[in-house]
Amino acid sequence: MLHKSLPGFIEVVCGSMFSGKTEELMRRLKRAQYGRQKVQVFKPAIDNRYSEDHVQSHDANRVLSIPVKNAWEILDRVEDNTRVVGIDEVQFFDDSVVDVCNKLAYRGMRVICAGLDMDFRGQPFGPMPKLLSVAESVTKLQAVCVVCGQAASRSQKVVGDAAIVAVGAKEMYEARCRFCHEPNVDFKSEPMRSTTPTPGKTDEHARSAI
Ligand code: ADP
Ligand code: MG
Ligand code: ZN
Repeated sequence: MLHKSLPGFIEVVCGSMFSGKTEELMRRLKRAQYGRQKVQVFKPAIDNRYSEDHVQSHDANRVLSIPVKNAWEILDRVEDNTRVVGIDEVQFFDDSVVDVCNKLAYRGMRVICAGLDMDFRGQPFGPMPKLLSVAESVTKLQAVCVVCGQAASRSQKVVGDAAIVAVGAKEMYEARCRFCHEPNVDFKSEPMRSTTPTPGKTDEHARSAI
C-alpha cells in the first residue's frame, strides 16, 4: 500500500550523445547526497565503456554505480533506506524498466533516469517513449552540432555497422542537429565524419570529429 505522503516520483533526463545527461544525473545525485539522502546508481552491464563500477561522464567525473544485467535486478539491489535511485544509459534496458521505475516511485523513492531518447537513426530508443510518458519530470538536453554549431538533438554514428546497440563514445558518434543528421547512413560509403572545424566545439571533440 502506498503512502501518499511519500515523495516518490520519476525524473527523466534525455537527449543526444554528449548532451550532458550523465553530468546532469550526477549533479542531481550529488545534491541529494549533500542533503544526506542515500543514493544508489545503476547502469546496464552492457555499458562497459569505462570501468565496471562507475557511471562516467565524458568529462571524467565519476560516481560509484552498480552494473545490472536487467531492470529487475535493480529492484533486488535497492536498499530500503535508499531515497534516490539513479539509472544511467536507461535506454539499454527493455520495457520492464518502466515497471521497475514505477514500483520504486510507489515505494516513495525519487528515481532519476538518464538515457538517449533516439537511436542513431533518429528513432525512439527502446523503453524511452514509455518512460517519458510515465515520468513526472522530463528534461531534454542538447549538445553542440559538430557540423554547424547549432544545438544538436541527434547522435550521428560515424563508424561501424548498422547495429542499434553499439556501445561507444566519441570515436563512434557525433552530436548533430536535425538538419546535419543523416539517419540513413550507408556505412559502406564515405564521407560520414564531419571535417569542418566548428566554433564552440570542445578540443576533445575536435580531435574525434576531424
Ligand atoms: P551524455 O551522458 O549526454 O553523453 P556527458 O555528460 O557524458 O554526456 O558529457 C557531456 C560533455 O561532453 C560536455 O560537458 C562536453 O564537455 C562534452 N562534449 C563533447 N562533445 C560535445 C558536443 N558536440 N556538444 C556538447 N558537449 C560536448
Ligand atoms: Mg552518458
Ligand atoms: Zn547542424
